[in-house]
Amino acid sequence: MDIGIKAVGGYEEVGKNMTAVRVGNEMVIFDMGLNLDRVQIHEETQTERMHSLDLIDIGAIPDDTILNSFNGNVVGIVCSHGHLDHVGAISKLAHRYDAPIIATPFTAEIIKKEIRSEVKFKVDNPVYELESGQHYLLSPDIELEFIRTQHSIPDCVLPVIHTPKGAILYGLDFKLDRRPVLGEETDVKRLKELSDENVVAAIVDSTNIQDEGKTPSESIAREMVWDTLHEAENEDVGVFVTTFSSHIARIKSIVEAAEEMNRRPVLLGRSMERYTGTAEEMGIVTLPDNVGIYGSPQGRDQILRKIKKEGRENYLIICTGHQGEPGATLTRLADGTLPLKIKERDHIVFSAKVIPNPLTRANRYSLETKLNMQGARLFKNVHVSGHGSKQDNYDLIDMVQPDHIIPAHGDLNLNSAYAELAESMGYCFSEDVHILRNGQELVLG
Ligand SMILES: [Zn+2]
Repeated sequence: MDIGIKAVGGYEEVGKNMTAVRVGNEMVIFDMGLNLDRVQIHEETQTERMHSLDLIDIGAIPDDTILNSFNGNVVGIVCSHGHLDHVGAISKLAHRYDAPIIATPFTAEIIKKEIRSEVKFKVDNPVYELESGQHYLLSPDIELEFIRTQHSIPDCVLPVIHTPKGAILYGLDFKLDRRPVLGEETDVKRLKELSDENVVAAIVDSTNIQDEGKTPSESIAREMVWDTLHEAENEDVGVFVTTFSSHIARIKSIVEAAEEMNRRPVLLGRSMERYTGTAEEMGIVTLPDNVGIYGSPQGRDQILRKIKKEGRENYLIICTGHQGEPGATLTRLADGTLPLKIKERDHIVFSAKVIPNPLTRANRYSLETKLNMQGARLFKNVHVSGHGSKQDNYDLIDMVQPDHIIPAHGDLNLNSAYAELAESMGYCFSEDVHILRNGQELVLG
């Protein structure tokens, strides 16, 4: 029985993650994601009516036609977490495989919503929920395990498959957060135990490999948010905070700071409603009763009129649009097309970093210029990342001791930087640390 690691997507870009692991004549697929900058853009994306082959053509979803030559059984589609660059292509690709989708309860809920909003394809693969710490038998030879981790969306896991040849760790996306704001810390104990049972291969996260040191805890981001928001404590100005709508821990910190400042927190945007609503329904987060969530354009316009009438100093607005996406709430506020206008001295807090690609850079430049022209005060990069940095990855490799390392979640630059880290830890390039391009398979004997 040999093992093949097939790089389907996410090996030449940060986005559209998908890896297939072949164990003899059986296969496990990890993630089916969107490439967010190839569709107009980010969390408000509407691809429901597009055909998968068209989406493959524009590079928006992984080109899984490379799996057409595989004659064995696909035994599971395993999803690590609910970000769209990991699950956003499920509704376009999963129906091509006679296999269940397996994810943690929060991720499963996001997947079910994606599938329900799909117009083009009928996806009726069963969706099974597996909690972190639990195991699931995919076939007599392959057992799946979910190891708890922290990232920037609730209920994230590092999936592991246990095979007769040893274990294979799918290490996307993770951070070693010892003081998380939501949920429990990464299960370091279990990761260390893995090294006792021969980890044949680890697919690892290159995203922040060029950042020296360690990614700070989300509790540091909470302090940054608190500190920055209190800049407006005694001022009669508007405060607008924009962040990732799926980053429930961050939204919790922002809401708590608003409460302390006696401002009513108001969440605006379709995706804010979707993610926060799901997290609240599932008991993952409890927000105070006075938090307003307005997903529809009508609801949004109504509350903005009310804020205008009652005084913006009584509210704290949390909205989408940190990347300057066209159509997002902050972009429209800056354009002056909503009932509430930005005023001089209003605080605009970006609790996110700019995703480094030319399209988002251009959008952000345009957004910031408009806000500056209206005299707003910009507070940027009030944020810590959800991806581990170089030293976090050192720790992961050190704990798990994999025989082979395959960097993913990045372009050639990022994956090469990961290979260099592995070399510094005694691995040898192309012998036991491997760089794959989309479409290639690494066979381990
Ligand atoms: Zn992610």
